[in-house]
Amino acid sequence: MAAPVNPIDIQPRQVANKSDKKALLAAIRMTLGVQSAAIRRNTQTFNRNRYTAVARIADYDALKDRARKTKENAIANLPELLRQLEASVRANGGHFFLAKTAADANQYIRDVLVKHDVKLVVKGKSITSEETRLNHSLEAVGIKVAESDLAEFILQVADEQPSHIIAPALHYSRERITALFKRKFQTNLPLDTGEELTRFAREILRQQFIAADAGISGANLIAADSGSLMLVESEGNIRMTTTLPPLHVAIAGIEKVVPSRADFQSFIELLPASATGQPLTSYVSILRPPLPAPSFAAPGKGTKPREFHLVLIDNGRSRMREDSVLHEALYCIRCSACLNVCANFETVGGHAFGGETYSGGIGGSWEAGTGKLMNARFSELCTGCSRCVPQCPVRIDIPWLNQNLRQRMNHEDGTSLTKSLFGSLTGSAPQDKSAPLPKQFFANYHEVGKWGTRFASLANGSSHMPLARKFMQNALGVDSRRELPAFPPKTWEQLFREEPRVEKAATIEPGIAMLTDTFTNYGSPERGMAAVRVLRAIGVDVELTPSIPDGRAAMSQGMIDTAREQARAMATMLRPYLDSGRKIAVVEPSVLAMLRFDCKHLLDDEATIAALASNSFEALQLVWDMATEVGIDLSAAFPAAKSRFGTRLFYHAHCQQRTCSAASQTIDVLRAAGFDVVTSSVECCGMAGSFGYKRDFYELSMAVGADLFAQVRDAEQDGGPRILVASGISCHEQLMGGMGRTVLHPAEVLLSTLRK
Ligand code: SF4
Ligand code: SF4
Repeated sequence: MAAPVNPIDIQPRQVANKSDKKALLAAIRMTLGVQSAAIRRNTQTFNRNRYTAVARIADYDALKDRARKTKENAIANLPELLRQLEASVRANGGHFFLAKTAADANQYIRDVLVKHDVKLVVKGKSITSEETRLNHSLEAVGIKVAESDLAEFILQVADEQPSHIIAPALHYSRERITALFKRKFQTNLPLDTGEELTRFAREILRQQFIAADAGISGANLIAADSGSLMLVESEGNIRMTTTLPPLHVAIAGIEKVVPSRADFQSFIELLPASATGQPLTSYVSILRPPLPAPSFAAPGKGTKPREFHLVLIDNGRSRMREDSVLHEALYCIRCSACLNVCANFETVGGHAFGGETYSGGIGGSWEAGTGKLMNARFSELCTGCSRCVPQCPVRIDIPWLNQNLRQRMNHEDGTSLTKSLFGSLTGSAPQDKSAPLPKQFFANYHEVGKWGTRFASLANGSSHMPLARKFMQNALGVDSRRELPAFPPKTWEQLFREEPRVEKAATIEPGIAMLTDTFTNYGSPERGMAAVRVLRAIGVDVELTPSIPDGRAAMSQGMIDTAREQARAMATMLRPYLDSGRKIAVVEPSVLAMLRFDCKHLLDDEATIAALASNSFEALQLVWDMATEVGIDLSAAFPAAKSRFGTRLFYHAHCQQRTCSAASQTIDVLRAAGFDVVTSSVECCGMAGSFGYKRDFYELSMAVGADLFAQVRDAEQDGGPRILVASGISCHEQLMGGMGRTVLHPAEVLLSTLRK
């Protein structure tokens, strides 16, 4: 057995560059082993606090719209704003430098500090300075840099890279910090509580502030009209960094510039709520440096006149601005909401789900934009679950950015004969034939399903053979510990055709068209039929559409051209149903997200995009809406007491079902029918479509699932077992795999009440 890892000996800088897959997998393993518990506890606390904080903002959506508009306009007018800002800074008596590259910025700052004979500089938290590797550059010429943010101080002591954009030492538990300080400072002082640790660090930092010759800060926003900086923090160290020493250098990316101080307003509200879940942080400073007040005079040092330098860096941002996809990342205000809500990030943090500087779902775009494309390889950890999208205060479609990065990386990986052949057999678009085989396999699962169901017993039988498992794992990347859903003898389409005609006339208008998605058709047709029967039972006329790929699977593999072709075909197929006034119902929630949100990226016709988005519903959502509208008593229509499964349920809603606001209705229906329902509160089950099937990510997927399994066990402590119910096929597979038990779709549960 391998020797246990001493957490203090870990040097994550060694795994910072994960442009190759091996390094990424090593980083995942390392963080799962050591950091996961602290990361999970801390991100989940931020996350819970954020939900509470944003719920208290009366005009949250309007505020987000305003913030988005401000950033859109600012990035669109950036060259003009930069000219205006330069004039403002100079008029205030400051210096302005626009650095094309990270090296240019470092050189400029170094020159300024050397000119002022600076020996010690105190620094506030600045991710931009991490991007430029400023500390190394200054230390190389003998300038000592003292990180003044407590978390940055811890990391400086440990010589580690940040694992989170606002809480850089989030991966540290209190016990690890105690061990680190004791070892590095050789102290016997009691350092067992948060207060003792903070007091210890503060004593050291106070001396640094007093002795510092210069202060370096970042900036959350900069107003072009006045040269004002907005600085948001919780420790007060930035305020001291910018006001005590006589020389202040602020370093920031050009995307931080907004037209005026009035534009700060929406961000002052949104940033703390989205970041730490506070209505306001402890310190919000709006400065127009150089400040008129005299600088602090340390004993033995006279007061010097104040000097201010604003160093803005481009370092790829202008290129991002021109990029039709990546320009959206420039709107990011680095609040970290998308990190804290992300189940994979919550489990491994930024040392695995992050690059050299930036981390989380948005981090890939920043790594690719400011560095090399392949530095974004960690964005493979984005499952496309879309949980982060409604949490982003500037409405960035983070999964879409990552799917595009994936497509670019697929191209970078190059084409081989095998890939092209496989792509041709499965019908990938020409541009996507270079995608790795596992991606082509999952993107074209409809082809696999078509042949698998034709020869179901042969395919199911051979899929258990060791040789077949080995092939699946090595060539197609399917982990041998996972079972792909067995191919049914009859598809959903076939079962529907064989269903006896409904004698009872439909009483609810309009009728619906049930979208025959690939995964239900070839993997779980009984779930689809249950949904059809439940809708018919309340008097809805149901038609089943032909089964064609909808583009969702291809999109999640970064095969966007294939997804586009498939989405266009699906939209054409659905048009007559929409024209005849039917609503579209789906069983698989990821397909609902496709119709509601993703088609806007893949289709050109605005009217079709709008029609699909506003007329698509999850099947049980329609049961609730229609039953409520016409006054159907669900306890009489589906009496829970008659269910052969019993009345106690544990229900897990799919990520995208929640994003589409289509989860609560299922719970309402089940409760109205008389079921006793306990619901899961985890962000994600960990399976997330094809993600959990992949050999590379199996362990991570199961680690994410651990919270869900624990919630099931908790729910069963009083009163015994509950029937496991899930709406998504992948959630279903994860619960089956993790708990070793049968899992039902909510429609199957309702159907069970109708059986004699
Ligand atoms: S889409 Fe899901 S997996 Fe991807 S970054 Fe957002 S929350 Fe994380
Ligand atoms: S992408 Fe949005 S949610 Fe994520 S850090 Fe940036 S602003 Fe915050």
